[in-house]
Amino acid sequence: MLVWAIRFIDEFAGDIQAAWAENRRLTALAHAAKATDRARIALEEFLLPMVRTGTPLPSVRLHGRTRLSHIYVAAMTGASLTQTDGFSTRHGLRALATQRPGPCPMEVPVSGKIDGQPWRERMDFGEAAELMRHLGTAAVIVILYLSGMRPQEVQGLRSGCCPDPEPGADGVPGRHLIRSHHFKGVTDDDGHRVSAGEVRDVPWVAITPVVHAIRVLERMVPEGELLLSASHHDFVRRIAYHGALKNTALNERVEDFVAWVNRETKAQGRPDHIPEDPHGSIGLSRFRRTLAWHIARRPGGLIALAIQYGHLRTVLDARTSSGYANRSRRGIHGVLDVETALAAADTAARLRDSAAAGENLSGPAARRALTAAAQVPRFKGRIVSSTFVRKAAAFLARDGVVLFDNPDAFLICAFKRDSALCDPEPHANTPRQYACRPGCGNAVRTDTHARLLRERADEIHQLSAHAPEPVSKRMRINANKLRETADSHDATAQTAGALT
Ligand code: SF4
Repeated sequence: MLVWAIRFIDEFAGDIQAAWAENRRLTALAHAAKATDRARIALEEFLLPMVRTGTPLPSVRLHGRTRLSHIYVAAMTGASLTQTDGFSTRHGLRALATQRPGPCPMEVPVSGKIDGQPWRERMDFGEAAELMRHLGTAAVIVILYLSGMRPQEVQGLRSGCCPDPEPGADGVPGRHLIRSHHFKGVTDDDGHRVSAGEVRDVPWVAITPVVHAIRVLERMVPEGELLLSASHHDFVRRIAYHGALKNTALNERVEDFVAWVNRETKAQGRPDHIPEDPHGSIGLSRFRRTLAWHIARRPGGLIALAIQYGHLRTVLDARTSSGYANRSRRGIHGVLDVETALAAADTAARLRDSAAAGENLSGPAARRALTAAAQVPRFKGRIVSSTFVRKAAAFLARDGVVLFDNPDAFLICAFKRDSALCDPEPHANTPRQYACRPGCGNAVRTDTHARLLRERADEIHQLSAHAPEPVSKRMRINANKLRETADSHDATAQTAGALT
């Protein structure tokens, strides 16, 4: 879903917003047109050949029904809406359009691409409003997913909240910061909850995809307006509402976005549909925990791939970035700590199980990792109390004892700051797993890792047969390195009994 949302923002947004502008222009033309004989002739010349030859008629879907697009036809021919309506009635075009619905192509260039191919042949008049709705939803998904903000905080964002940073003394622009309201735990002097929230004294850091999403929303609303203003996001009915889109509306829009993507992938025969979620619909409240889960457990995984770099933790983590939110462990940082601690406990449990099953261990930190694994409690469930946030932060602060699974490097990292080769920040409690280096003193491998290394080497070797040189050569070298690492494990690994 995140990949598709980023695709909307980075690839489709320009086309969709241009299509919407054209839709508005044609709609204004149609409403302003006067009934003339010339327009009547143009109307006949435009529609009658379609009726006679069985060509599909320009149609839109409105409130679940397909109908002739009177506005599009009027704009194309110069006829008034009354004239178009009368013509449609006389020739039975309403029924005909239901049987033969056709596109309403607009003269808008298409520049967005998927896999190097244009994502649309033409932008369609009838689809513009729906695409604008999905574009707004895509922006919400990107911001919620990649900023760690709460839904209410995103709903409170206004146009202009994230200005481009000024260059620093060294000429390098600083980070984008989002200045806005926060709501959780905001009370007045008497301890009463302040529902309007307050301006957060420490801004949120915005990574590039979030900045792009905010820019897209800023083009949808007037300056200073709420980025999710309900009035400006009602593209179909154009009704004036008060405030921002509510949670229920946004939840519904996320579901509609998923449905659109899955219709599109099916129609185009693409494999990258959004799979059904076994835990039910994707409510807004799930985004922060999901982000934390990915950062804690898949540091080089899908989210990192989607945004093309894997240092989200560095950006989001208060302890290691620019003093951002360093006043507390509230917000995304607390969620991230909890998820990281749970992931570390799972890793410790797996290591204990592997050792108990007779697997051998190798690596400079093997003994330390075994001792650490024996001390870490096993978490049976996933419901965490508020006090667990503090406990999780304290647990992660124990340098040298916390175990991080690093599936991309086929190892467990018994992270000790001073011996880490991945260049962690001075006070970091977590390794930069995406920058893992061979030969690090914190690495531990089990027989399972050695097996996975060989399986991956075989995979790469097979793929290299179909790759051109010199890529193929590099792939073979890479595969050989993986095999050497597995061989080195076999040559040096010891049983848990021998290590303790
Ligand atoms: S380089 Fe060392 S500390 Fe960093 S992730 Fe790899 S094993 Fe862990």
